[in-house]
Parts: sequence; C-alpha cells; structure tokens
Amino acid sequence: MANDPKLRDPRTLYPQPPFPQQEQPEPGLAQEMEPLPDHGEESYKGSRRLQGRRALITGGDSGIGRAVAIAYAREGAEVCINYLPVEGPDAGQVADLLTGEGHSLHKMPGDVSDEATARKLVNDAAEKMGGLDILVINAGKQITQPHLTEISSEQFDQTMKTNVYAMFWMTQEALKVMPPGAAIINVTSIQGYKPSAQILDYATTKFAIRGFTEGLAPLALERGIRVNGIAPGPFWTPLQPSHGQPMEKVEHFGEGNPMGRPGQPAEIAPAFVYLASNEASYTVGEILGVTGGKPTS
Ligand code: NAD
Ligand code: MG
Repeated sequence: MANDPKLRDPRTLYPQPPFPQQEQPEPGLAQEMEPLPDHGEESYKGSRRLQGRRALITGGDSGIGRAVAIAYAREGAEVCINYLPVEGPDAGQVADLLTGEGHSLHKMPGDVSDEATARKLVNDAAEKMGGLDILVINAGKQITQPHLTEISSEQFDQTMKTNVYAMFWMTQEALKVMPPGAAIINVTSIQGYKPSAQILDYATTKFAIRGFTEGLAPLALERGIRVNGIAPGPFWTPLQPSHGQPMEKVEHFGEGNPMGRPGQPAEIAPAFVYLASNEASYTVGEILGVTGGKPTS
C-alpha cells in the first residue's frame, strides 16, 4: 500500500489500535503477529536503483530489516540477511519470496552479540557476494522492565552487545572491505532522543548508535564511504510483542503518536533505499527520522 501512487490519507492507510492481545517469547516471529505486518511483500516495486549492489542486513528476517531486504532485492541488489537461528521460519519466508522472484538472497544465521560471529559475518558476506557495498546494522534487542532497578546486569550487557558492540565490530570489518561509494546505515530510534523509563538500557544504546554514526561519518568519508542513520518511531514488528513493551501497551501501540497508529515496515524501507543509493551522494552523517509525526527534537 505504501507504494501505491493513488492519493491516500496516511492516518488510515494501515491498521490502527486497539490490536489483539498478544505475547511471544523473545525475539518473536513476524508470522505470529496479528495483524500481520506489511513488509512490502505485495507492494514494493523496484526501479534498479541499487542494481548490482551487494548488501548485508542484520535482523533481515522480520520487521524493518525484512522490508529493507525486499526493497533492496527488488532494486537489483544481491542481499545477505543475518538473524538469530531461532528465527529460521521468518528468514525462510522472506528467502522463499525473493528467491522465488529470481533475486539472489543468502541466509546467514548467527548471533551478532558474539564478537567472533559479528566480525566473521561481514567477511563471510563479502566473500559470498564478491564484495560489500551496503551494510545495514539493524539487529536490535529491546526488553521492557517495570523499573530500572529490575534491569539485570545480564540484560544490560546483552542489550549493549547486540545494539552497540556488534555495530562497532561490524563497522571495523566493513571499513576494511568496502569500496568508495559504499554506504553504512545504522538504526537508532526515537528512543535515541526521547528515552522511556521502562527501556532505559535500550534507549541508552540508541543514543550511543546516534553518536557513533555522527562521529564515524567524516572518518568513513575519508574512504568515500557514506555513513547515515535512521530513527524509527513506533513500528509494528515482533520486537514489540516479544517483551519490547508491557503486554497491555501492545494493544495500544502507536496510539499516542500524531499518526494515531504504528508504522508498518513497508513505510520505512524507502528511506533505506534512498540512503544506500547514489541519489543520497551528498547525504552524510544524517539521522533520518521516520516517526509518524513524533518530533525528535
Ligand atoms: P524485529 O524483531 O523484526 O527485528 C530485530 C531483529 O534483530 C530480529 O529479527 C533479530 O534477527 C535481530 N537480532 C536481535 N538480537 C540479535 C542477535 N544477538 N544476533 C543477531 N540478530 C539479532 O524488530 P524491528 O522493530 O524491525 O527492529 C529493527 C531495528 O529497528 C532495531 O534496531 C530496533 O531497535 C529498531 N527500532 C524499532 C522500532 C519499533 O517500534 N519496532 C522503533 C525504533 C527503532
Ligand atoms: Mg526477527
């Protein structure tokens, strides 16, 4: 729907809360959500904007990452998706869809909170595709707790490792293999500007991602590599019903947003296409907000 050229009111383009009550164990599956998220499966039409590019997307099995994988493949890119091994069913779904359309998609399961795995992932992807032109660091961990005092050291550590350390490790490897013209896109959040008390560990990582992105951009540009970030607002993905939100809030997810509903992954993928393409050649160190009207400042 997001790619339909017909004039449409964005407020009513997609499902609005309340949503059915639902809960999944972390990290959750897109195919278990109700309503099902729209990743652009039926709607995204490519126009060769990324023809011949080689892309690695972490968390590419579901949610925002899956929408990006669909968009990139249909824009002509060869795509590797990384995800946790337990997310095989979601990864299989997007892989079947895209390979069925004749696109080149590689499944690369692995836990990026492990240093050796994160570093190897970048090099394996580059080897598999004969190079690496686009890296989307999108994998994320978000677990809500009623109070700061209930966030365990283990949770804090794992959230940092997944959201921040993995970005650092993968970036180091990527800078060694990426050619001039390549692009790195990091995923921060509205939480990287306006932190919520129940997910302070997560919000802290999103501030870190924003700072890392802005600081890295001029450094990477010395090699002709553009680094940018995207800050999503509330999006309808498995991150939320798998303990990313208190369960009662999932039913009302996105309600307080000016748009009155959460975004669907299909509504953010075009921003990732833009930042990866030559059309964004003068865009560096930028954090693009796609928040449904919630101001970042
Ligand atoms: P999602 O659950 O579909 O995607 C997150 C992915 O992270 C998972 O699919 C999983 O494959 C991956 N992941 C988690 N831990 C991992 C690990 N240790 N190793 C490898 N992969 C791991 O949810 P999403 O909302 O599409 O999340 C994508 C990004 O968007 C995240 O960085 C998230 O913080 C960010 N974001 C989401 C929202 C939202 O409302 N959904 C808002 C702002 C930012
Ligand atoms: Mg997933």
